[in-house]
Amino acid sequence: MKILKTMLGLGAAFAVTLSSAAAFAEGYPERTITMVVPFAAGGPTDTVARLVAESMSKDLGQQIIVENVGGAGGTLGAGRVAAAPADGYTVLLHHIGMATSATLYRKLAYDTLNAFDYVGLVTDVPMTIVARKDLEPADLKGLVDYMKANKDTVTVANAGIVTASHLCGMLLMSAIDTPLVTVPYKGTGPAMTDLLGGQVDIMCDQTTNTTKQIQGGTIKAYAVTSPARLDVLPDVPTAAEGGLADFQVGIWHGIYAPKGTPSEAIERLSKSLQVALKDQNVAARFAELGTAPSPEADATPAALKAKLESEIARWKPVIEAAGQFAD
Ligand code: ASP
Repeated sequence: MKILKTMLGLGAAFAVTLSSAAAFAEGYPERTITMVVPFAAGGPTDTVARLVAESMSKDLGQQIIVENVGGAGGTLGAGRVAAAPADGYTVLLHHIGMATSATLYRKLAYDTLNAFDYVGLVTDVPMTIVARKDLEPADLKGLVDYMKANKDTVTVANAGIVTASHLCGMLLMSAIDTPLVTVPYKGTGPAMTDLLGGQVDIMCDQTTNTTKQIQGGTIKAYAVTSPARLDVLPDVPTAAEGGLADFQVGIWHGIYAPKGTPSEAIERLSKSLQVALKDQNVAARFAELGTAPSPEADATPAALKAKLESEIARWKPVIEAAGQFAD
């Protein structure tokens, strides 16, 4: 663009910019888009991403391929997208960890608030406290006693430092004032495999990963972290009912693009996200998994930007007070 400016003068360069933007808007998207999920395949974030990507693909007339880049609590995948070309063909679907990692990680390969453009919010998922199906306690009160009595041997799975499952596990330990042994995975997809196999005892994970297993009786559910019971899991009490007052967690998800992505592409993606969230099939699948699409007004760049900023501010003092950071 610098060379163009020198050659043609500022006015002409501006005209070139405008006309190429118009051409971009008309043609976009012309090829496959990659949606990076910063956790392992088969987990809750992956499930949300694949449902939304499928519906957005139909609206965009081009395929969105989901690529799982797990590890380092979601920061590897986010870093991959921050460094990707800002051309509208790489996006990131990430959750609340985008906000918490900004404080929890001492060193990130990207500057969270300045490395991304925003597409919109996707969903806010409740969590569940679950265990391998043969864990003895019958209810949450019994589980709390059991965890306290066996604190050196009870294992709690998570998807790595800063993930939703890690935060929820920490909240649980702080609610019962007892540290437990944590076992990190690259996502709660693989963690669920070990929970099913009985290699790990407990996990606090999103309904998008646990609902089917709870309904099928392959894992044991002790509580949901929503303010009220969920339609899909009517027999599972809330944590408050089970004796842990104020134990409420919701995991919001958003779609981001590398900073500098043409605004026409962002607008198109955002519109497509809104279409996907109104798609009956997406809404029905979300409902089966214990969650719901974000309202249309939140599937916008402004709403996601505001959410990320407010959530970074909300978690910063909490994390700093806890004094636990990751490298
Ligand atoms: N979102 C993670 C995953 O998809 C789970 C988590 O954050 O705990 O595996």
